[in-house]
Amino acid sequence: MSEETLFSKIIKGEIPADIIYQDEHCIAIKDIAPKAPVHLLVIPRKIIPRIIDAEAEDQALLGHLMLAAGKIAEEAGIGEAFRLIINNGAGAGQTVFHLHVHILGGKNFSESSLGF
Ligand code: AMP
Repeated sequence: MSEETLFSKIIKGEIPADIIYQDEHCIAIKDIAPKAPVHLLVIPRKIIPRIIDAEAEDQALLGHLMLAAGKIAEEAGIGEAFRLIINNGAGAGQTVFHLHVHILGGKNFSESSLGF
C-alpha cells in the first residue's frame, strides 16, 4: 500500500477540498492556489507518485484521467480552450507526489509560454 498523500487524505474526506467531480477512479477538485481563473486538479484514487511511476497496468486509468479531464473542462465552461499539465518531479515543479492533471483555463494562453 502506498503512503498517504495530501490528495489521498482529500479523497478519504480527512482534509476538506472543493470536490467538483468524482467517479470510481478519480476525483477533481479546485486548486487551492489557482494559477488561472479556472484551475482544477484531476486526481486518481490510486496513489501513483509521479507519471513516470505509472506502469502498464495503469494504462486504462491514465486514459480515464484524460477523458475525465475533457468532460470536467467542458462542464466548467472552458471546453474550447484549456491546458492539461502534469508536473513530474520537484525539478518540474511537482509539490504533491500523488499524480494529478492540472486543468487550466478561463484565460487566453495563445501568446504565453508553457510556464504557468
Ligand atoms: P504540483 O505542483 O503539480 O504538485 O501541483 C500541486 C497543486 O496542488 C498546486 O497547484 C497546489 O496549489 C495544489 N494544492 C495544494 N494543496 C491543496 C489543497 N489542500 N487543496 C487543493 N489544492 C491544493
